[in-house]
Amino acid sequence: MKEQPAYDIIIAGAGAAGFFAGISALEMRAGTRVLILEKSNKILSKVLISGGGRCNVTNVCAEPAELVKNYPRGGRSLLNVFYSFGQKETVEWFRQHGVALKAEEDGRMFPRSDSSETIAACLRENYFRLGGELQLQKDITAFRHEGGLFYISLRNGDTYCAARLIIASGGAPKTAMLDWIKEHGHEIRPSVPSLFTFNLPQDPICSLMGISVENADIKIRDSKFRDSGPLLITHWGLSGPAILKLSSFAAEWIYEKNYSFSIEINWLHSKNRNTVNEELSKLFKTFRDKKVRNLKPAEIPGRLWEYFLNKCGIDPEKNGAEISSKELESIIKTLFADVYQVNGKTTFKEEFVTAGGVSLRGVDMRSMESKHIPGLFFCGEVLDVDGITGGFNFQAAWSTARAAAAHAINNL
Ligand SMILES: Cc1cc2nc3c(=O)[nH]c(=O)nc-3n(C[C@H](O)[C@H](O)[C@H](O)COP(=O)(O)OP(=O)(O)OC[C@H]3O[C@@H](n4cnc5c(N)ncnc54)[C@H](O)[C@@H]3O)c2cc1C
Repeated sequence: MKEQPAYDIIIAGAGAAGFFAGISALEMRAGTRVLILEKSNKILSKVLISGGGRCNVTNVCAEPAELVKNYPRGGRSLLNVFYSFGQKETVEWFRQHGVALKAEEDGRMFPRSDSSETIAACLRENYFRLGGELQLQKDITAFRHEGGLFYISLRNGDTYCAARLIIASGGAPKTAMLDWIKEHGHEIRPSVPSLFTFNLPQDPICSLMGISVENADIKIRDSKFRDSGPLLITHWGLSGPAILKLSSFAAEWIYEKNYSFSIEINWLHSKNRNTVNEELSKLFKTFRDKKVRNLKPAEIPGRLWEYFLNKCGIDPEKNGAEISSKELESIIKTLFADVYQVNGKTTFKEEFVTAGGVSLRGVDMRSMESKHIPGLFFCGEVLDVDGITGGFNFQAAWSTARAAAAHAINNL
């Protein structure tokens, strides 16, 4: 006779994906015996620190076809799970569970309380209310699949048995941390950081920390990567949404370059180079007795303009009439193709993720079930999926967890 496992489903990891998978299984099939095994002594720790303590749960972007564009890796593979349980369903799920979400101007959605504890409490309370179990300090180091059951081994030598295993162990800073999954035939994509800012060590532009421009184009030289958006100068380099998005899409390329590469900035995003050339030339002629420090394009903050002039070797005290055509050419070049050498990265404090993880090639992306082992499922950041900043990483966690749970309860 087949052994009766103590649990229907064991979930590895007590993060957003693990808890949501557990709740989903219990909601879809009351009485399911679910156990979460968590290696640390904390639960939902990333939820609590996320979004600067406010938890950016999702984004206003609701249309699955649009939503997938926010994932540098794995986006299109998420289409199915987004159609089954996407942004709209997530907002509605939280609403039905007493958590109202609000949208901010940039599209990020937070709990109305502005506290990540609201999200953690919602997940915690619903999981335990439905009868889910949790054990802390249970570090899973291996598992075997035998006779249709999973035997899950912990570092301390204990073994647990379940009919299904859902792996929701999060991003792994080191690829070797996923060896216990790799040994079952799952390819592991190397872990590389995503969502970081660019360091420009010793570059004088850093003295302008705090200055931002609303819309700049940034291009990584010798690559296909480019992006536009707000750009912020910090005391160590460049940050802001445009840089974070670029860091995410180019994460693997930048990693291969060992975080040393050059970028080119167009500080006047939508403007035409020839038009600006004519406008400035006219400005310098019209205000011939005015100091050039005061004759600038409206989009460029005063201190940045002065920095550009100095960079071009032009004394900001000169009058408009004194600017030669060669100097104007040099200003135009700086405004439209300003080059910086990046050396190193700084992890974005609000949100950072790991690119890499369990390759999607070995996972059925409708059910989140392993293609190698029936009954084994994956969800959340353990997968080789990562989004840009804006609530997209949690959205992937909710959607993949829901799909994993929905299929894990089948034929139990
Ligand atoms: C500072 C910060 C802020 C962020 N803010 C946002 C945000 O506002 N919005 C957003 O969308 N994303 C945000 N992210 C990203 C987001 O937190 C993650 O994408 C999300 O938490 C992934 O959830 P997860 O459940 O897959 O993994 P995790 O939250 O990492 O949970 C995995 C759990 O599994 C446990 N575990 C690992 N290995 C084992 C094992 N072998 N045995 C047992 N347990 C194990 C871990 O201890 C952990 O508790 C942020 C990330 C950081 C670091």
